Amino acid sequence: FAPWLDPKAKPFIEFRNVTKKFGTFTAVDDLSLTIYEREFFALLGPSGCGKTTMMRMIAGFEDPTVGDVLLEGQPLAGVPPYRRPTNMMFQSYALFPHMTVETNIAFGLKQDGMPKAEIADRVAEMLKLVKLEPFAKRKPHQLSGGQRQRVALARSLAKKPKVLLLDEPLGALDRKLREETQFELTDLQQDLGMTFVIVTHDQEEAMTMADRIAVMDHGRIVQVATPSEIYEQPNSRYVADFVGDINIIEGKVERCADGHVTLNTPHGTIEAAYEGDIAKGSDAWFAIRPEKMRLTLDEPAEAHRNCIAGEVWDIGYLGDMSIYHVHLGDGVTLKSAQANTTRLLQRPISWDDRVWLSFDADAGIVLTR
Ligand code: ATP
Repeated sequence: FAPWLDPKAKPFIEFRNVTKKFGTFTAVDDLSLTIYEREFFALLGPSGCGKTTMMRMIAGFEDPTVGDVLLEGQPLAGVPPYRRPTNMMFQSYALFPHMTVETNIAFGLKQDGMPKAEIADRVAEMLKLVKLEPFAKRKPHQLSGGQRQRVALARSLAKKPKVLLLDEPLGALDRKLREETQFELTDLQQDLGMTFVIVTHDQEEAMTMADRIAVMDHGRIVQVATPSEIYEQPNSRYVADFVGDINIIEGKVERCADGHVTLNTPHGTIEAAYEGDIAKGSDAWFAIRPEKMRLTLDEPAEAHRNCIAGEVWDIGYLGDMSIYHVHLGDGVTLKSAQANTTRLLQRPISWDDRVWLSFDADAGIVLTR
């Protein structure tokens, strides 16, 4: 499933040079974006970057100051929220406390004047979908957080919208329940064949669920790509830093040719794979994930490049892996993640050890912005 790679695929939701201002403040800044039908699309970014405002413009709760939002090629300007084939599920779930689970789910259908028998069928279908049949007669306060989340989901799906907009849907759940629900949501989205747009500031959530992620910064999109592209090939320091943990080493370009860059850094020479051209003498950064850094007590054979010496400063034990913080001596600390595949009761590498970090030329990436 990759309609974004198909030049013939029709856009489903489109932002065309959309700017949204609140007074003099620009919340969304000349932003263009295409989302395809049946996509699970995530808007990811720090608090205040404009994610919710984008969703509210799809739903019709806000209008763009400049530009157009389109659905299936039709501009949405002037179409009120209740006429749009979209539904928004809010972070707070906004369930009616005095109504039972079934009346909560039926609420929107009743308002639309759907016949009673049809409502009953639809509510039953929704209860089954979110596995809440035994809870139909309960009120929200008699449910767990995860169950309330599923009621909210059932209620927003009941009208069978073409687009479901989810604003931090899992924010109120504990970690374990959140992980389970992530898989439930993606299964559900695939079964229903609907388009989901989710807002989150949790990169793990976006990575687990989304087909594509848009990483946002101050009302702009910095990168739109699949989770693995975002993680493996971030297009900037901002994206690299925002998604996952990463080591960044500053350097100056010594040579750039034949798909490789040689960087002079305070920690030695780094040679990295790079398709493109950067002028000699330019500033550039080498960025590498902790799990791609080898860690050894012995000096590697080819120590003249891609090899950095340091001292173990701290070890963070995470169970499945340990994160080694290695001081390079001039205020720079790099991290190396090592899988704890055997039952290590005594670590082979410990605090204050002098160690070597090394990596392959294609293990990290060169960034110029
Ligand atoms: P969060 O993750 O905290 O929900 P967000 O990325 O969803 O953040 P938005 O809610 O889209 O951010 O808000 C973007 C910016 O626009 C914020 O600085 C916010 O204060 C501002 N903003 C949003 N709605 C309004 C409004 N109605 N009036 C004035 N400013 C607003």
